[in-house]
Amino acid sequence: MVDNIQIRSAVASIIQAIGEDPEREGLVGTPERVASMYAELFMGVDKDPREELTVGFEAGHREMVVLKDIPFYSMCEHHLLPFYGVAHVGYVPGDDGRVVGVSKLARVVEIVARRPQLQERMTTQIADAIVDGLDPAGVAVVIQAEHLCMIMRGIEKPGSNVITSALRGLFQRKPASRAEFFSLINASRS
Ligand code: ZN
Repeated sequence: MVDNIQIRSAVASIIQAIGEDPEREGLVGTPERVASMYAELFMGVDKDPREELTVGFEAGHREMVVLKDIPFYSMCEHHLLPFYGVAHVGYVPGDDGRVVGVSKLARVVEIVARRPQLQERMTTQIADAIVDGLDPAGVAVVIQAEHLCMIMRGIEKPGSNVITSALRGLFQRKPASRAEFFSLINASRS
């Protein structure tokens, strides 16, 4: 739970510190708006993504499952500006053949995204949550994102993507599994 009152006073201080008038009509409600928005944007701070994976079902499925283009919005922890894009998540079920609904994987991505984040750490946290929660034979996560802190300051042009990946188990050991995952996530992409 974020501290609504503390955010409100901090945002009011920032408005004042940049030389603006916190009482001005357009700004007077801003601390309150930012506080309630942060409650949403940072709802993943005190949540454990592994809890989303406890309700699985034994499908006896032993082949790769890939969910691609999961949209996400996160906040860069260095600048508190958004970075956003898509996550691709693949796994091969473990010996028990246990799988989870695709919405659960999307929920794991959302929880991990809604924290002050680094793209690299977000990628590993998703992979590790699935390893811990599902005990699969392997997990692969790829994230493509644009960072407003880079684009707005002119460090990078809009449209330039940062790509990160995390591979666990089978995907580390078997080049064929890795190749299958990457060909699936690149399918129908020009
Ligand atoms: Zn940044």
